Amino acid sequence: MQIGAHVSISKGLTHAVETTIKMGGNTFQFFTRNPRGGKARELDTADIKKADHLMEKNNFGKLIAHAPYVYNLASVKENVRRFSLLTLKDDLIRIKEMGVPYLVVHVGSHGGQGEEKGLELVMEGLKSVLKEIPEETQILLEGMAGQGTELGYTLEQLAQILQGCDYHPGLGVCLDSCHLTGAGYDLADFTKFKEQIEQILGWDKLKVFHLNDSLFPLNSRRDRHAKWGEGYLGLETLKKIVSDKAMEQVVLILETPNDDLGYAQEIALVREMKKRQ
Ligand SMILES: [Zn+2]
Ligand SMILES: [Zn+2]
Repeated sequence: MQIGAHVSISKGLTHAVETTIKMGGNTFQFFTRNPRGGKARELDTADIKKADHLMEKNNFGKLIAHAPYVYNLASVKENVRRFSLLTLKDDLIRIKEMGVPYLVVHVGSHGGQGEEKGLELVMEGLKSVLKEIPEETQILLEGMAGQGTELGYTLEQLAQILQGCDYHPGLGVCLDSCHLTGAGYDLADFTKFKEQIEQILGWDKLKVFHLNDSLFPLNSRRDRHAKWGEGYLGLETLKKIVSDKAMEQVVLILETPNDDLGYAQEIALVREMKKRQ
């Protein structure tokens, strides 16, 4: 099982690996740069090497990078779309240098242009990025809760984008239990949900799953993460998700509102649930 939390790399990659080891994880997710955008830090090759060595020694799986929230390939504003494209390309080169294969990106918000127009812009942008994507990397489109004018809150929309990009090997999907709940997918019926993934997306496209409880109920269209057991999903549903065979190939990342100790407890809980399946 590959599991970890979203951690900061502000003190370097090696520090993030050490933090994850203390939490009991064997992977983690980090922001490529400040979540509100801004300049990325210089890559520190000595730090990357040290982190690699430590990860190898501790049987780490693939790491996950997450793009800043400000990227919006569907923006009404041309300059926002252009900025998103340029920084997305830059992030992909940077994660390649770091040996990280996945970059999770929010699909975007259409800002009133309508969903079809928004999806068209997303596909146009992605096609341009995919032309230059390093072979070792993959963009993972994240399924959203559907707040405001957010796109990508249905499996069908995600599938439409994959198809529109000719199922480019540089494109995959990341799902989030909190976002899925907001968007109306009832994970308590995990068997039904699995069938939907199989029929609409295909399991091979799902690379990462954000394990978050949801503060708001089914179909709320709200995206507010909760600690496990403090939201609408609850521990029974968590158990269904993490103990399912189909999920074994998927990297699990916690983005719950926790400190390091809280993450350590949730990782231990998930490992226990998996053991007792
Ligand atoms: Zn996200
Ligand atoms: Zn979220």
